[in-house]
Amino acid sequence: MKVLKTRKALISWRQRHRGSLGFVPTMGALHQGHLHLVERARRESSKVVVSIFVNPTQFGPGEDFRKYPRTLSRDLALLRKAGVAAVFCPRDASQVYEREDETRICPPRSLASILEGRFRPGHFDGVATVVYKLFSWIRPTYAYFGEKDYQQLKVIEALVRDFCLPLVVRAVPTQREPTGLALSSRNAYLSASDRQYAAHLHTCLKMAPSIREARKRILRLGFKIDYVEAWKTDLTAPATKPQGRVRWLAAVRWKGVRLIDNVLRDFDT
Ligand code: AMP
Repeated sequence: MKVLKTRKALISWRQRHRGSLGFVPTMGALHQGHLHLVERARRESSKVVVSIFVNPTQFGPGEDFRKYPRTLSRDLALLRKAGVAAVFCPRDASQVYEREDETRICPPRSLASILEGRFRPGHFDGVATVVYKLFSWIRPTYAYFGEKDYQQLKVIEALVRDFCLPLVVRAVPTQREPTGLALSSRNAYLSASDRQYAAHLHTCLKMAPSIREARKRILRLGFKIDYVEAWKTDLTAPATKPQGRVRWLAAVRWKGVRLIDNVLRDFDT
């Protein structure tokens, strides 16, 4: 497995590679959710490249950029075992951002200003910009994103659609602990018993008969709510009635940790 620490090394590795290429962008502190994306990529492409980069431009002031878990040597060992061909883990942010004031990608406001965007202004500009840069250097055949970050997936789909990028976005279902808690690098901030409790968020989203009732149950459990909302599956409009297939999405704070999750609810069956 090639460990590429500079943009130059990445681009020259890419130039030597022929055949289909699967790409999995991550911020590291890898867990089974990330490895599931890698497995999926391995099945579909002749080679897989993973990026590990805690992208500063997608964190707002006061967010956890500095304390975000960084476990590079463990991550590299996991990826080597998973059969990845190359990992791009830039040795510093200047490999990705050279200037203070540079071109930014702004996803459609109708998509980027709702849900997460309301609480993390500029977050999706940071995500779209870094992903666009990585796509340009890696030129993948397929790029893999988790439904765990459902709105991010929709932002990336819009980026690929609007710039007619020659690659296919693959959505991968959320991987969960047996309790139902969505796997996340930020779960490392929680103790084992807090993680157990945090799984109630998923139970509420999965079981409540209405979004109002879900919100009530989540509040009653003591979570602080940023949002608990029902949307059409393409996130173009709120889902006003529990009818057909809709996405329920939530962000809550629990013991100082921000948890996000979402489920597909199907009210026809
Ligand atoms: P992150 O390292 O958190 O930026 O995540 C990198 C990629 O892994 C994103 O596409 C995430 O949506 C995806 N991912 C994170 N957690 C999960 C999970 N529990 N199940 C599936 N995909 C995930």
